[in-house]
Amino acid sequence: MNSKDSRNFVQALETGDRELMKTVPRADVHNHAALGGDFHSWAAKEGFDLPESPRHFPDFTDFQALVNTIFTYPENNPDGDFRSKRFLSLFDATYELAAADGITYIEPGYDAVLLDHYGMDLERMISDLRRQTDRYSDRLTIRPDVGILRVCDMKDIERTIYPCIESGFFNALDVFADERSGPPEDFRDIYRAAKKAGMKLKAHAGELLEAEFVRRSVEVLELDEVQHGIAAATSPPVMRFLADNGIRLNLCPSSNIQLCQVESFKTHPMRILMDHGVKVTVNTDDIIIFGQRSSEEFFNMFGTGLYTPEELDEVRLNGFPLS
Ligand SMILES: [Zn+2]
Repeated sequence: MNSKDSRNFVQALETGDRELMKTVPRADVHNHAALGGDFHSWAAKEGFDLPESPRHFPDFTDFQALVNTIFTYPENNPDGDFRSKRFLSLFDATYELAAADGITYIEPGYDAVLLDHYGMDLERMISDLRRQTDRYSDRLTIRPDVGILRVCDMKDIERTIYPCIESGFFNALDVFADERSGPPEDFRDIYRAAKKAGMKLKAHAGELLEAEFVRRSVEVLELDEVQHGIAAATSPPVMRFLADNGIRLNLCPSSNIQLCQVESFKTHPMRILMDHGVKVTVNTDDIIIFGQRSSEEFFNMFGTGLYTPEELDEVRLNGFPLS
């Protein structure tokens, strides 16, 4: 990473130059691979007359219902071939948009239940995913996460996640969706297996639940990073714990606003977290629903007047691997 990029980043923010921003390398390390595309171009490409999503979801189950619509529209076809093709199309939309927005490093999250759509044929699934990611290798460094959908039955989770961990294709493990439906203790053995396989450990926590849930998730699952973790900002001891242990929070401001966990960019707790020494990154979560790409998220946060361009440049650089 060089200082020219930092200079361009600062200049892009100060002058509102969106095109210059797209030339500055950025990372997106909290991006669900099936939900990172542009809604309009994806729907048009597939010939779908899908209605635009609402802007706010006071009820998390409405958000999950919309996600399900995108996965199954126009008919709820349970056929594995239909589902796997749908997901490959959504992953393409994610990579195309990331590259067009100037993202150079991405950690896309795949759901392990994808393996079910491949009839548990791990080799065919990994071969399809590898072929797809290779097509973008000149523009994007892709380090895939594999995720556990915490609302799934534990037997289905175990059946699909262990082969994914053993495949060697995935760089990190994550657990996501409504955190009220699966305590971290349920996933301890899976996280130990991923750690043994040399994977990075992430988990969604503190998006909907309180600060202590963030600390508990980090301790029980031995996390390296937390997806969201914004509730930590209500607790100085939890923030100290995160700062002391070098636990990074991968934030997604627009997602928090649209899921009604935060009122505005100005009141987003990123400022408080940074003031308490917690390392953060800015990411997109589910662009196909929230509509805000990485470049826009940086402008959104700069627009609050709460961050200097240099501080946001540090946040940008935090997203890249250290080596
Ligand atoms: Zn997420």
